[in-house]
Amino acid sequence: MYCPFCRHPDTRVIDSRSTDDGSAIRRRRSCPVCERRFTTQETVLLMVAKRSGVTEPFSRSKIIAGVRRACQGRPVSEDALAKLGQQVEEEIRGRGVAEVPAHEIGLAILVPMRDLDEVAYLHFASVYRGFESLADFEAEIASLRTDRADGSEEDEGSDPAMPTADTAS
Ligand SMILES: [Zn+2]
Repeated sequence: MYCPFCRHPDTRVIDSRSTDDGSAIRRRRSCPVCERRFTTQETVLLMVAKRSGVTEPFSRSKIIAGVRRACQGRPVSEDALAKLGQQVEEEIRGRGVAEVPAHEIGLAILVPMRDLDEVAYLHFASVYRGFESLADFEAEIASLRTDRADGSEEDEGSDPAMPTADTAS
């Protein structure tokens, strides 16, 4: 590892210890040339296994980019995308595994996406849950309708107690 101060290509480890939660190792290093000290940290990389067998490091920005693409033309803010990315990353990291199939990340995205935007959600779900027919879409839409009816007050339909322009005149 290069010295970050003078770029000398070799440094010496002078101390090495686990972080409190045991998820990482920190090493105190010293440069033999400029004699300055710095700290490095070693953690398990969360890898994503693609269908092709290739693995790559988990990337929150890749998830956000994918969701942004699915939400094109939909009223979804950058803040909401950032929040979704964080939610998905926390959920995946919380599993405590070193490698996760790309397909499972797709499924993990579906959960917060359902609240984010229904149209984009259906698009995403059709890919990641392998919708094959209109019936699959219909079943998913029916489930979205049920959830929406349960979760939110009816804001359509007029309140009979409210005077309208007609009755007031
Ligand atoms: Zn140095």
